[in-house]
Amino acid sequence: MYFKQWQTVLFVQKSDSPEWVRWVHQSEGYTHCDECLMLDGCFFLRSKAPPWPHHPNCHCILEPVDYAVVQKNASTYSDYSKFDPYLFNTQNRHPHGKDKLFKQWGYTVEDASWLQKEFEKQAAKKYSLGEYELGVLNKYGQRINIRIEIPRQDRAGDISFITGWTVCPGGKLKLNTPYGGR
Ligand SMILES: [Zn+2]
Repeated sequence: MYFKQWQTVLFVQKSDSPEWVRWVHQSEGYTHCDECLMLDGCFFLRSKAPPWPHHPNCHCILEPVDYAVVQKNASTYSDYSKFDPYLFNTQNRHPHGKDKLFKQWGYTVEDASWLQKEFEKQAAKKYSLGEYELGVLNKYGQRINIRIEIPRQDRAGDISFITGWTVCPGGKLKLNTPYGGR
């Protein structure tokens, strides 16, 4: 009786929580694929993992990760320089025009720290919920896109846009592109 109840609980938990995997690179011989090495230890929602196996003779495996581990470890990091000088073009060396968009929405370089924290917070949450899209994978790692939403400062309403992150081992993300388009 007791045992039966325990089994039921396990079953319910299993079917209820999203399935996450850890990409594990296994060294076989001396050849290493740069991309597989960058994926080593990274967490993905199983349905949104990079195509696997990644290449002929890929020895990598996708190991199940407990969703509690994903929730506990999902975290983000960004360099302040992605906002200042890059996003707000404070040194006139980044003529991408993104600073004009943010100014139009009522944001200036004074808001850079707030934006940095807000991006980190929203991206960590969305990543742990599996709300991301796979981007480019190359020798610098797997990029993912996450939609961020912030309030307009010039009038009522919100604006939402894509931010770009690199997936790092152990549930971590590093900011790549603070504004990657609408
Ligand atoms: Zn591989």
